[in-house]
This record gives sequence, structure tokens and C-alpha cells, in this order.
Amino acid sequence: MAAKAEKTFTFLVVGGGIAGVTCVEQLSFQIPSAEVALITAGPHIKAVTNYKQVSKTLEEFDVEERPSSVLEEKFPNLTVIHSAVKSLHTQSHSVETADGRVFGYEKLCICSGGRPKLLTQDNPYVLGIRDTDSAQEFQKLLSKAKRIVVVGNGGIALELVYEVEGCEVIWAVKDKAIGNTFFDAGAAQFLIPSLEAGKPEKAFPCKRPRYTTEEPAGGALQTFTADGHLRGKSTGPPEPGSALGPDWHEGIALRGAEQVSRKVSVEYQCEVEKIFTSEELLNSQQQTLTPENNGSWPVYVQLTNGKTFGCDFVVSATGVVPNTEPFLQGNKFAIADDAGLQVNDYMMTSEPNVYAAGDVCTAGWEHSELWQQMRLWTQARQMGWYAGRCMAAHVLSEPIELDFCFELFSHITKFFNYKVVLLGKFNGQGLGTDHELLVRCTKGQEYVKVILSSNKYINHIISRC
Ligand code: FAD
Repeated sequence: MAAKAEKTFTFLVVGGGIAGVTCVEQLSFQIPSAEVALITAGPHIKAVTNYKQVSKTLEEFDVEERPSSVLEEKFPNLTVIHSAVKSLHTQSHSVETADGRVFGYEKLCICSGGRPKLLTQDNPYVLGIRDTDSAQEFQKLLSKAKRIVVVGNGGIALELVYEVEGCEVIWAVKDKAIGNTFFDAGAAQFLIPSLEAGKPEKAFPCKRPRYTTEEPAGGALQTFTADGHLRGKSTGPPEPGSALGPDWHEGIALRGAEQVSRKVSVEYQCEVEKIFTSEELLNSQQQTLTPENNGSWPVYVQLTNGKTFGCDFVVSATGVVPNTEPFLQGNKFAIADDAGLQVNDYMMTSEPNVYAAGDVCTAGWEHSELWQQMRLWTQARQMGWYAGRCMAAHVLSEPIELDFCFELFSHITKFFNYKVVLLGKFNGQGLGTDHELLVRCTKGQEYVKVILSSNKYINHIISRC
């Protein structure tokens, strides 16, 4: 049973990432008189800026990390509380924070994001990249590294293997082709030569977000220099910060200790069998030692294809786990197969008056034919915005319908310096064999795939930006 709440808010939102911030903005905009609070573990909040509707469903925007005072100045009804939620008491409509405070709510929205699904916990040689701090830790380790193993085939792995220079990269993917989450084997073939070629001297201009972080105290703006180094050093948040997003690496020099440009070897259709330290390897009955595999690396990765690679450290880029733990104890949330809080088409969880949005939730409604959930920046914004609208509508007893943005999946991103636009079931997901593919490919220039299914078309475009 929770202690008595020191204050009760009409709307309480947990998480200062894109989903949480968009949700409080929407609530404050719709009901300016309502008392709204945002509780977040990190020192900064994520703000969407320069929002641009590219077409009916495609959107582009910039993202900035900002001190929370910016939000409070904009919305006088909003209180930002910097602490992590430790427990949720749905019976008494209250949350308890790590610093021992208790806050009540009429409606709560959980936007606590996710954390990297690490191959193994508490191994100093296995790193996940999630927030600004972990990206800086990665940069620090990389600067002394000669070889790293990257495991995973999603967006983060794709970006890493392309960006890292001065360090050999062994890339272990479980699929037959790279980038399986985002594109097909044909598109992977189109992109592979970019990995083999040197990096272009100057990146092609591409209008994408750039990261800035500010001192926790809200002092002078801390930016990245043109050569990719931080101008200052943040003291670092004690709690997990918001997930990074597009172009997270743009301000960070991803350079290892060697003089080589890019050197990537892909190991297809394999997973990690075991991770050893050099002592464990030498003490084991490992029979496949080679000159470079003889205990001189700090850590070794054995893959299911039988190969073992020594390296300086391992990057685990195998997806995220929704941050649900603090909210589960004593409550009866419906949890989806992917461990997210299941939400209905009003972004409501199975607990009354508790909503969820962004990476922490799983869309449990019957999806439109051309939409699927992917834990992406764009969807975090759309869900946060729609959750805010639903919460306001429910308080005002107004009707609301599932937003149009959930009709058609759409995403703009960049891989290997190509602009990538994905629409609908861009990879033919769940379409069986009853569809037709039209592909136009100009080597080094563009790859356009159109899927025709029951006279509907679904696009998949990769082109130089
Ligand atoms: P988050 O941004 O993770 O925010 C969660 C917030 O909750 C944080 O502020 C955290 O401090 C707070 N919090 C957590 N637990 C608690 C608690 N107990 N109490 C209080 N507060 C808490 N997406 C793209 O679309 N394109 C990309 O190219 C892309 N690249 C990415 C690259 C990297 C390296 C990473 C890590 C992610 C990338 N993503 C990308 C995914 C995208 O960043 C996420 O989908 C999106 O940021 C999720 O937003 P969110 O608000 O749900 O969660």
C-alpha cells in the first residue's frame, strides 16, 4: 500500500523521451487548465523540432535533448519531476519515486521506453547502445579497439558497421542477408558495395536531425564539434536516459585504434553461442585456436557457425526490451509476447486509467493491413500524441477514433548514406506468395521496390540523399 500522495495530477506521464514529451505537450495543448506532470529518470527531455509533414503519412522532424525547464516555460500547467518511478499502485492511483515521493493521478501514461536486449548481463566486454551516455562509453572503448564484434541485424547494427573506421568489425547476423528488419535480400545486395567501398570524403547533404546535449544544470549548450568530439563532458545521468535516434552517431567520432578505413566481415546465419574471457578460453578445451585466437584478445565470441573471434569488445545490437519492471509488481497488466504493455486502440493498458505509448507498449488492436508496429522514433511520437488525445478525450467525455497514422506504416531513415523510405508492408510481411514485385535498380543510385497485392501497392525506396 502506497503512502499518501503529496499531490494528485489530472494527468501524470512517466518518461521524458519522444513519446512522453509529445504526450504532455498534447495534453497541455488540449486542456491548458489541467494539472499535468511529467516524471522522468533522466536529466533531459527529448523535444521534437522542425516537424514537417512530407506527405499524407510520411513525416520528418529534428530531435533535441533539452533541459526540462524549456517545457515548463512553454506550458505553465506542467510540472516536471526528475526521479525514476519505483512502483505503481493502480488501486490507489499513485506512483512512488526512487527519492521516496508519492504522486497521485487521475490518468497515467507510461512512456518509459526500452533498454538494449543484451546478449549477457554484467559482462564488461558486452555493450549495448541506447542513450547518449552509452554512446559515449562506446566511443571511448572504440578509440582503443582493433577489432570489435557487432551482433544484430537491425538499425543500430547497420549504422554502426557503416560508420566505424580504424577498427576491424566482425558483423554477426542471424539472417541470410543484412538489414533483414528493414529490407529484402535484393536491397541488401544493393547496399553491400557501400560497406566495401571507402567512406565518402564528405557526407552527401541530407536533412536529418543532429544531436545536441546540454549540461544537466541547464547551462550553456553543449554541442559536438565538426570533427565529432564533444565540446564538454556531461556528468552523466544516474538513471537511464532517453533512447537515441536517427543520426545519433553524427556528432561522435566512431574511430578505432588502427589506421585502416572501414573493414567489415559479415558472418551470415549465425548467433552467439558463447562469450569467453581470454582466461576462460585458455582453460577450456577449445581446439580451434589460431594464431590470432590464442588468448591475446580480452574477449572471445564463439558463433553458432563454429567460428570463434577474439576482439576488444562486443556490441549487442539485438533489439530492445520494454522498460516495464517498476510498473508490474502488484498490478495486473496484460503483457504481450514481446514483453511490452499491451494497449488497445485508445492506448489504454488493461489497468483502468493507465495508458502507455512508445517503445514500452505493444499495439494490441487489430492492425490495418498496411501497418505494423516497429519500435521507432516516428511511432513513439505518433503514439505519444495519440495517447495524449485519447486521455484528454476521455476526461472531456468526447468521442475519439484511431488516428489515420496507424493506417499505413511509413518511415524515413538513412542507411549507408542512402535515404530510405519505407511504406506499408514494405518487405511483403505476412503477404504470403500472392503478390507481385516491381523493382527498379540503378547500381549506386537507387533501389525502388513496389509490391502489388490485391491492386494495392506498397513502396520501398532506397536512393542517394
Ligand atoms: P525513450 O526515448 O527510451 O524514453 C524513455 C524515457 O523514460 C527516458 O526519458 C527515460 O529516462 C525514462 N524512464 C525510463 N524508466 C523510467 C522510470 N522508471 N521512471 C521514470 N522515467 C523513466 N528510431 C528511428 O526511428 N530511427 C533510427 O534511426 C533510430 N536509431 C536508433 C539508434 C539507437 C542507438 C537507438 C538506441 C534507438 C534508435 N531508434 C531509432 C529508436 C528510437 O530512438 C526509439 O524508438 C524512441 O526513442 C522511443 O521513444 P520512447 O519515448 O518510447 O522511449
